[in-house]
Formats: sequence, C-alpha cells, structure tokens
Amino acid sequence: MRSGNRNCPENPADTLNDPPEIFTDEYFMRAALREAEKAEMNHEVPVGAVAVKDSMIVARAWNQVELLQDATAHAEILALTALAAQQGDWRMDGVTLYVTKEPCAMCAGALVNARVERVVYGFADPRSGCCGSALDITGFPGMLHQVKVTGGVLELECAEQFKEFFRKVRSGELPKKSVSGPKHGELQ
Ligand code: ZN
Repeated sequence: MRSGNRNCPENPADTLNDPPEIFTDEYFMRAALREAEKAEMNHEVPVGAVAVKDSMIVARAWNQVELLQDATAHAEILALTALAAQQGDWRMDGVTLYVTKEPCAMCAGALVNARVERVVYGFADPRSGCCGSALDITGFPGMLHQVKVTGGVLELECAEQFKEFFRKVRSGELPKKSVSGPKHGELQ
C-alpha cells in the first residue's frame, strides 16, 4: 500500500530532480497522432497537434477544414487559438507545439507571430513545409521571433497515416470530398 508521502519515493530515481522519462518528444507526438486519427474519423486530412507547456498537454486539435469550411482551420491554428483563449494571452512563451506534419506557410507564420518556443513535427513536406523544407519561415532572420525546430519525430508513423488516408480516398473507402483539391495534402 502506498504511503502517499511525496517525500519518500518508492523508487529511488523518482525524485523531483529527475523529470519522468516518459515525457519525450515521441510521447507527445503519439498524442498528436491520436488527434490526427480523430481528423481521419471525420474524413478530414489527418493532421493532429498538441501544445505542451511545463511537460503538460495544454491544448489538442485536429484539422477541421472541411467540417468548419474554413481554410485556416489547420490543427496548429486551432491548437494555438484554443490555448490563447484558455490562458487569456496570445503569447506562447515556453510552449512547444507537436504536429504530425511539417507546418505550412500559414501555420509557420502563426507559430512565429505567437512566439511559440519550439515546434516538433513528424514528417517533412518538401513541397509546402515551411519549417525548413520548402521555405524556412520559422528560422527566417528578418522575423521578430525564431521558432526552434525539431523534425522527423515518429516520422514513419506520421507519414504512413497521412499516405494511408489518401490511399483510402483513391480506393473509394473514404469519400472524395475529404480532399478539397489537388494541392491539399498528397506528398510527392
Ligand atoms: Zn497549416
């Protein structure tokens, strides 16, 4: 039976000075992948995001462009908007955003404007990714703020989920209206 005394950890390694090792980039990317699954279940292009502050998930979102009929309703934007409303502050100091796909120009710009500290993405998008692939908006020297970038976290899982979605659309398992145009999504 646990004593409940925080000063007497059962495991010697379980001290406040040693943050739990489960809080890795992979751990939070798995949470972003679960958000992307929700997008797919709703026939949206599967991109998911979570915002993390002080090792806690403080906002979650999935792409809802079709549902909301809003071109700006990417997972990253919805996560930032939700967190800003929650904390009553648009400034994302100390926030890391995890997203399954490299952010586009709009989302990379939003990350800069919101002063997000770091973005971690799953798979790179050579055609329209703007965190260093097609463009480097998050690291552009002329911007007022630069966002630290880590790419390739759970890359294969994130890319596979995305590609599988388009395979299902092509095979008719998902309705074609899930994809609003040829520019919306597919990797080259
Ligand atoms: Zn975007």
